[in-house]
Amino acid sequence: NKVIENTLGNKPNVVILGSGWGAISLLQHIDSRSYNVTIVSPRNYFLFTPLLPSTPVGTVDEKSIIEPVVNFALKKKGNVSYYEALATAINPERNTVSIKAVSTVAQLAQPDNHLGLNQHDEAEIKYDYLVSAVGAEPNTFGIPGVEKHGNFLKEIPHSLEIRKRFLSNIEKANLLPKGDPERKRLLTIVVVGGGPTGVETAGELQDYIDQDLKRFMPSVAEEVQIHLVEALPVVLNMFERKLTSYAQDVLQKTKIKVHLRTAVAKVEEDHLVAKTKAEDGATTEQTIPYGTLIWATGNKALSIVTDLFKKIPAQNDSKRGLAVNQNLLVKGSNNIFAVGDNAFSGLPPTAQVAHQQAEYLAKVLSKMAKTPNFHAELAQRKEKVDLFFEQKGIKPFNYTHYGALAYLGAEKAIANITYGKRSFYTGGGVLTFYVWRVTYAMMILSARSRFKVIADWLKLAFFKRDCFKEL
Ligand code: FAD
Ligand code: NAD
Repeated sequence: NKVIENTLGNKPNVVILGSGWGAISLLQHIDSRSYNVTIVSPRNYFLFTPLLPSTPVGTVDEKSIIEPVVNFALKKKGNVSYYEALATAINPERNTVSIKAVSTVAQLAQPDNHLGLNQHDEAEIKYDYLVSAVGAEPNTFGIPGVEKHGNFLKEIPHSLEIRKRFLSNIEKANLLPKGDPERKRLLTIVVVGGGPTGVETAGELQDYIDQDLKRFMPSVAEEVQIHLVEALPVVLNMFERKLTSYAQDVLQKTKIKVHLRTAVAKVEEDHLVAKTKAEDGATTEQTIPYGTLIWATGNKALSIVTDLFKKIPAQNDSKRGLAVNQNLLVKGSNNIFAVGDNAFSGLPPTAQVAHQQAEYLAKVLSKMAKTPNFHAELAQRKEKVDLFFEQKGIKPFNYTHYGALAYLGAEKAIANITYGKRSFYTGGGVLTFYVWRVTYAMMILSARSRFKVIADWLKLAFFKRDCFKEL
């Protein structure tokens, strides 16, 4: 395999894997004058995931919540390159990353330097420091039929697939007579997982039915039934109980049927089997015929990450993500960092955590660059790396929790806004919905995307959602 090494300016090479919350927040903050920076990701845009549940029904357009990687890269000084490619392996023994399916390479500082790479070539990129921020993938817990028949909601193509399936089911159902069991099945949507992804998606679908579909297909709209299935006794488990019971009330009032203590055990093409465990321990089984199945039960580690568990002895027992130390260095390595969902540090897998970890890591890298001899000394250091960082005056990562928000549908949201352990706002309802909107608009990482999202929300005050099957 061809090995690519960036030698411009004799600076250390930082290779960042991914183009999500961790990777792009790091790119925004990294001191790119002190390092050659290379981003590798098959997805050539950043995705603002908090608004992804709004896209299947067109409350917000998919294109409004994405921003090309190069737009972030072009804002940086120094030598920044972007490889639109999939990282297939991390090779700590050679300090390289294997890549394949190269679609394009943007070397912003040296656009004329030909790398000798052809599309779909396999190659290795050499790093001095690697930052793994590849995220995670939907977890099916091995439940049969989910991969084949369910739709996830983690990436933009998932949103398009859900819209296509949901709208074609509505079209098919509309041609069948009322009372036909097939019509009822086609108009049944099951959302599995009562975490924030499941709840927000169910709420958005119900909004489309109540606010748009009802206007032009009232009888079909009336028959659509959304089921939200959650294994735990509550939905939105991360919120305090007062807010979760309010959320449950709102969902039931908007006609969403919430099944608690109910775990889906098997999925077939047109129905699924769910088991409910009552408080007294008795188990009942039910079959739910469905037309659309949305699977939102959380995430698991990607194979590039689980493969690395085997290559670093200190990671052999890792399961959910790469165990990191207080400076976000992968335990057992002196030059691989991990941020976001692919890192395991006991914090929840959220954008908020990934973003703060990336900001912190940018500061650490900057301090490393300013400390004389740091790179050479660290490269020699095989043990007690934590102590070395401490001796050089690098503080541990400290997470500040700013709270959580979730949209429920019917222009109602719940929020708990905090600063660390201090709570500033706890509430649920229409006012909180506007707090939710303002907070999310502020969190968006680019001005273009923020403008487009606000424009989509404004448009909604005057027109129906842009919800087209093939678009
Ligand atoms: P991601 O943002 O998922 O980015 C991973 C990146 O790695 C992607 O660009 C991907 O293409 C790339 N990649 C994958 N494999 C490879 C590979 N082999 N080689 C190179 N690149 C690769 N969190 C909140 O705090 N608030 C919210 O409101 C919120 N809402 C959410 C809504 C939804 C629908 C979802 C799914 C998640 C939500 N989250 C939210 C969670 C949040 O999105 C994640 O915690 C966050 O994206 C993690 O950031 P990350 O950088 O680790 O991973
Ligand atoms: P999650 O892990 O938060 O929730 C998944 C839910 O699915 C759990 O409540 C679990 O009990 C349930 N479940 C698992 N298996 C099941 C089964 N077989 N049958 C029925 N229920 C089952 O997943 P998520 O909602 O995708 O969120 C992932 C991460 O992203 C979390 O950290 C979350 O906080 C974050 N997120 C945050 C927001 C927000 O802040 N508004 C929105 C979306 C996601």
